[in-house]
Amino acid sequence: MSAVFIISAPSGSGKSTLVRHLLRSDPNLVFSISYTTRAMRGQEVQGGSYHHIERAEFEERIARDEFLEWAQVFGNYYGTHRGIWDRACAEGKDLLLDIDVQGAAQLKKRIPDAVSIFVLAPSRQILEQRLRDRSEDSEAVITRRLAAAAEEIRNYERYDYVVVNEVVQDAVETLHSIIRAERVRRQRMEDRIRPILDTFAALMHTSSGEK
Ligand code: 5GP
Repeated sequence: MSAVFIISAPSGSGKSTLVRHLLRSDPNLVFSISYTTRAMRGQEVQGGSYHHIERAEFEERIARDEFLEWAQVFGNYYGTHRGIWDRACAEGKDLLLDIDVQGAAQLKKRIPDAVSIFVLAPSRQILEQRLRDRSEDSEAVITRRLAAAAEEIRNYERYDYVVVNEVVQDAVETLHSIIRAERVRRQRMEDRIRPILDTFAALMHTSSGEK
């Protein structure tokens, strides 16, 4: 079964950059393209970062129970389609999701084995600076995003890992380490271990009960 890695972070934490680095360097990871009712912005294309759909269609899909999880974030619907998980399993790939704290909690209930990672900017001041540097948002939106960040950060304890994104390359390395270790833990490398145990078989029989 595929491993599931959830990454959550307040906007401005540099999460998208980290996700891009991970996907570029790990061919066994596939990104979960969410459905959203948010309008496309900037360079976005349909089916790129998101499948953009109307609210009515999203609500119909909720009614048909098509989502593994869904939530409203900043007034828009976002959801992870069930098909994503089925496809990743069929392809033998691990799944990487960039979803908010509400979605992460729902997904953990559905897939308890999912690994959750919270990404934090090193401070409020740095987060604010990053939001301003993006120059994507108005002053009012920046204020709203900072307030939302303060709320989201309170949930960090519910995550399996917290990664501070101070230097991108270091954070990417840490994320790779988490992914590598979790894969080993899951597979437990049974295929490799059994032949090794076989080489000890004779000793195991003769030494049983002896000190
Ligand atoms: P943005 O619109 O800036 O790309 O994303 C806004 C927020 O929605 C981010 O915190 C992102 O993690 C979250 N998000 C994106 N896709 C999903 C999803 O499928 N489910 C949930 N619960 N949140 C999502």
